[in-house]
Amino acid sequence: MKLLKGDNVVMLGGKDRGKKAKILLVLPETGKVVVEGLNMIKRHTKARKQGQSGQILNKERAVSAASVAIICKACGKVTRVGYEINGDTKIRICKKCKSALQ
Ligand SMILES: [Zn+2]
Repeated sequence: MKLLKGDNVVMLGGKDRGKKAKILLVLPETGKVVVEGLNMIKRHTKARKQGQSGQILNKERAVSAASVAIICKACGKVTRVGYEINGDTKIRICKKCKSALQ
């Protein structure tokens, strides 16, 4: 998985196409990510007790990691993740400006 929690991404498709937000959660087993405030679904909950009213909850639904692109904090561009080997560690770099992605 090239994306990490806290990365800033832009949506490439769907109704939130072009919107930018932060990754809240990465789900490596399904190859999906949850992006803050994007791809929201409304969930209606019924009143369980008398006198209580039903609620509408807004919740983010996970999107495929392929449908978002990372935004580099250094150059501010929509980019792709590259890797650089630095001794024993592999670091993620921006393919456009080559600076390390946090
Ligand atoms: Zn960059």
